[in-house]
Amino acid sequence: MTRDKTKKGEDEYIAREEAEKTKRLKEQLKEQQSQQQREQTKAQCYMKCPKCGADLNEVTFRGIKIDRCLNCDGVWLDEGELEKLAGDEDSSTIGNIIGIITGKS
Ligand SMILES: [Zn+2]
Repeated sequence: MTRDKTKKGEDEYIAREEAEKTKRLKEQLKEQQSQQQREQTKAQCYMKCPKCGADLNEVTFRGIKIDRCLNCDGVWLDEGELEKLAGDEDSSTIGNIIGIITGKS
């Protein structure tokens, strides 16, 4: 191999390495921005009604803390709270509805 061909091969190798490095940095930046957007959205929406945007108030019902909207009176449940509220009573009806809603039936 001549000296020129060797030099050309090295240049191509370096260019490919630089392109890969740039691609990785862009992907990292994109992921960081995406994570920042998720955190920003979470901060803006935390304890806000998903229906009307008003503040939610935590109330205790049957020993379970649920989120109730101060404006539209909507009630919002965290994961597992619906099952706790339903308990073991009338499992044929409520249990079936929960199964349909959660996709666990
Ligand atoms: Zn509301």
